[in-house]
Amino acid sequence: MESVVLDAVDIHKSYGTGAGRFDALKGVSLRVAEGESVAIVGKSGSGKSTLMHILALLDEPDEGTITVDGADAAKLRGRDVNRLRNRDFGFVFQQFFLIPNASVLENVVLPLKIAGVGAKERSERGMAALRALELDDKAKNKATNLSGGQKQRVVIARALVNNPKVIFADEPTGNLDTATGQVVEDILFGLNRDSGITLIIVTHDTELAARCDRQIYLRDGLETDVAPPANLHGALPAGSVLPGADTGGTIEGVTA
Ligand code: ADP
Ligand code: MG
Repeated sequence: MESVVLDAVDIHKSYGTGAGRFDALKGVSLRVAEGESVAIVGKSGSGKSTLMHILALLDEPDEGTITVDGADAAKLRGRDVNRLRNRDFGFVFQQFFLIPNASVLENVVLPLKIAGVGAKERSERGMAALRALELDDKAKNKATNLSGGQKQRVVIARALVNNPKVIFADEPTGNLDTATGQVVEDILFGLNRDSGITLIIVTHDTELAARCDRQIYLRDGLETDVAPPANLHGALPAGSVLPGADTGGTIEGVTA
């Protein structure tokens, strides 16, 4: 039987209260098997990042349950959530979140430092991750003195250094030009293929989504079977059925 790494059931999340309340997720369920690549797709504001933060245990749902590796996240203490997140998850976000004045190596080994790994091992594993991303010559550089593509590779090295089961990527190519974005995508899918790392990728890029094993379409906080209209990037031919849209919904939004 396939092993389930993440199981989210009927997730609800609202922001604000009273008249200012906004229901960002209205009952989304998602089960992810080990080694899968899953795209979470939808227009801006559809709830993609909210869902990803909840799946990654960075935020808690108002209703619904998240099970990680068989453990109910709501029953874990804060410290255990942090440990699980640090051990099992890697993060690749659009905005990089690198510490500007720290060196590239210091940025990459941060998850190991949090996990209490000693200095020598940190440095060895950090350098190994940087070599894998062909950035070992930049180890001593300040993180600020890098191009966008190099920064995103540093972020991937940091996501990898803990040997995670799952990498969460939120618009990982959103700030990159097409060619650099392609390189970053290839690295992520290489990790999925060669190391069996599960990928959960939030994107509004239909081409990137199509490279994943499976696509989850969000609209106004709910999952929908119909692919959103083809967008700026990589518009598909009118009428084409996106892989994973198993109801045969078409690009025009006409449900079969
Ligand atoms: P996406 O990633 O698909 O663009 P988000 O999950 O970031 O969407 O946001 C979904 C909706 O929730 C948006 O309308 C957004 O404005 C709202 N939202 C997100 N975060 C907050 C917050 N911290 N406070 C209030 N509203 C929020
Ligand atoms: Mg977002």
